[in-house]
Amino acid sequence: MSNDKSTTRTEGESNSESKNEPNPKEAWGYDLYPERRGTFTPKVTNILLGKEGKEGIEKSKCEKNVYDCVKNSSIVKLMMAALRSSGCPVDIRRHISCEVCDYSVSGGYDPQLNQIVVCQNVSTRKGMVQGVLAHEMIHMFDYCRNNLDFRNMEHLACTEIRAANLTHCSFTSAWSQGDASWTKVKQAHQDCVKTKALYSVLAVRQIGKAEAVEVIEKVFPKCYKDLEPIGRRIRRNSDDMDRAYKEGSYYGYE
Ligand SMILES: [Zn+2]
Repeated sequence: MSNDKSTTRTEGESNSESKNEPNPKEAWGYDLYPERRGTFTPKVTNILLGKEGKEGIEKSKCEKNVYDCVKNSSIVKLMMAALRSSGCPVDIRRHISCEVCDYSVSGGYDPQLNQIVVCQNVSTRKGMVQGVLAHEMIHMFDYCRNNLDFRNMEHLACTEIRAANLTHCSFTSAWSQGDASWTKVKQAHQDCVKTKALYSVLAVRQIGKAEAVEVIEKVFPKCYKDLEPIGRRIRRNSDDMDRAYKEGSYYGYE
């Protein structure tokens, strides 16, 4: 079921704006984060073309966006509060890192270092940074609270379902379609969660689509119902969360 390399690290987020094909050489997503491995070097030809060599500017822009989200984004603030109250407080300098990534990913979570990676060359808008932070903070929360093992395919599928359910798919247009019946909206939301979770799993694991779908279907009923910490603990008592859920554009995903 799962590859037995003992050195899995970064759990990645597929960049929804570009189609990602898993790299056949690496099952665990390493090559998606060259800075993480210390092998990133800007190519001279790309510097001449102005494509690379701007990492410093990108990094400070990214760090500013992270800072703004931590200060002003309801969903990011709520996730940080949930992590703090679960015994895993987030220190933005220690736990969030802006880096150059492969263009197929927008962000990731590195459980070994308990660190969120924001892909500074892909997630260039504040809405995207907010999306990455909220999503990866669900993984951070699961890693903190639920003894998550990212090498276990069912665990991985479960946390991806939860992240899609609680963040990405709650802001899709299905919710705002006034003419859609509740059943239709519900179905659209479930489909969104399954699709998003599938892409997230395929972005970081060298497995076939059919196998990934099977694992997702298996854990879906249980994991889709699990709304911690947003649905149960925070949303109920917070105007902020309701507001965040109503503002689709707020999230940067249309
Ligand atoms: Zn994810």
